[in-house]
Amino acid sequence: MPQASNFLLRRLAPASLARVAPHLSLVDLVAAEVLAEPHQRIERVYFPHSGIISCIVELSDGAAIETGMVGDDGVLGASQALDDKVSLNLVTVQIAGRASVMPSEKLRLLAAELPDFKALLIRYEQFFLAQVQQTAACNAVHDIDARTCKWLSRMHDLAGPDLLLTQELFARMMGVRRTSVTTVAGALQAAGLISYSRGRLHIIDIEQIRKRACECDDAVRSHFRRMFEELETATHKVRCA
Ligand SMILES: [Zn+2]
Repeated sequence: MPQASNFLLRRLAPASLARVAPHLSLVDLVAAEVLAEPHQRIERVYFPHSGIISCIVELSDGAAIETGMVGDDGVLGASQALDDKVSLNLVTVQIAGRASVMPSEKLRLLAAELPDFKALLIRYEQFFLAQVQQTAACNAVHDIDARTCKWLSRMHDLAGPDLLLTQELFARMMGVRRTSVTTVAGALQAAGLISYSRGRLHIIDIEQIRKRACECDDAVRSHFRRMFEELETATHKVRCA
């Protein structure tokens, strides 16, 4: 069952999943596909099973930087659907994969009927906001070597050790020049931590990558753990009351 590979769908109570699943359909996430333009309504909500979706802020001078990633740990577009809001960022597929999708209108109706579904969606959006805030601080303060390792660690968490990634995309996500990416990737390759050839990046030593990452790597992971542990405790209390 494809739902089993998305963290949020997997955590739904069986009765709620039985209500939600008939409205999900499976789609391919195609690399570089644009899922939403800034200020555009998101018509479909995405629950990825694999691959990575990126939220990107573009500036008027052509520069861009990634502010958040969604993979099989989350959902894209739920808060906009619940609140009938538009996308604030450009949203693209960074790493190809598959996702279950649901029309935004249907998600809004189901969330109104299923409190556990709504609670999961809101909890993920709180985590996503925490991730964006951490990324803002990281981009302002931490150096490119540590940021790159943090970014690779998060990519590894979501998509595993083999990543199809051009240097252009790498630079765009990090908000740096391509020459900086060449230097950083070259140093990681020389240290035996990654191999990188013709747009294929393979993470050889994730433990060393994590040691070189800034504190934001652990901070984002612990935000995620804490938020869903709290939700679990709250749900357990309601069930036992
Ligand atoms: Zn950082």
